[in-house]
Amino acid sequence: MTSYLCVTCGTHYPPDAAAPARCPICDDARQYVPPAGQHWIAWAALRDGSRANIFTPMQPGLTAIQTQPTFAIGQRAYLVQTPQGNVLWDCISLLDDATVAEVQARGGLAAIAISHPHFYASMGAWSQAFGDIPIYLHAKDQQWVMHPAPAIRYWTGEHQDILPGVRLVNCGGHFPGSSVLHWAAGAALLTGDTIRVVSDQRYVSFMWSYPNDIPLNAPAVRSIAEAVAPLAFDQLYDGWRTVTGDAQQAVRASAERYIQHIGG
Ligand SMILES: [Zn+2]
Ligand SMILES: [Zn+2]
Repeated sequence: MTSYLCVTCGTHYPPDAAAPARCPICDDARQYVPPAGQHWIAWAALRDGSRANIFTPMQPGLTAIQTQPTFAIGQRAYLVQTPQGNVLWDCISLLDDATVAEVQARGGLAAIAISHPHFYASMGAWSQAFGDIPIYLHAKDQQWVMHPAPAIRYWTGEHQDILPGVRLVNCGGHFPGSSVLHWAAGAALLTGDTIRVVSDQRYVSFMWSYPNDIPLNAPAVRSIAEAVAPLAFDQLYDGWRTVTGDAQQAVRASAERYIQHIGG
């Protein structure tokens, strides 16, 4: 038996005799099935050497990891380095020996934490490769886990500290469990697509569905802005882009302008 990944969203499914019939993540109205239908790739084919993970330093102690050529949604994961251990924030589908070696050279991993189901990717394989390290997922999104693993730790409530100075904060919005990671020493907020950096990289946005252009309502946007208001951060990193400097003010101003435009 082999295991398969959804080519559209990058979700890794448990080993089976054949590829799954459907991808519930893509069938959901927040994602999409391409006009030509759903496609699958075998785990070994993804790892055949035609793609590689690129490590890009973002600021001291923070490295982006992204697959080239792009696979599925094409998001970045991040390695957050702290004196008490490293965290992988969000996840990507490709994990190969070169990637494990690059991460080990930076101190390995103590934990994985993921913003929401679109970035669950190959989380089980990543956890296993680094010694069955814990994977922190918000319990509100448990129904979207397609590949259950003993390493998953479902957290509940508004926040969860995973290492000193590394806190997960539940914001909701895009998914009920959508969360962000606050890294105090780096004055950085890592947001997945709970809070999404827009083209000018000075503002952010908040959507229920990005591919289907479905906005959030005013109470949901206010609730996200309020959840991150107590956190001190200058940089904001989503799954693709960065707000460099004064990111806290960028979130405040963006929430105000967004609510104005949706008539809230
Ligand atoms: Zn999918
Ligand atoms: Zn998403």
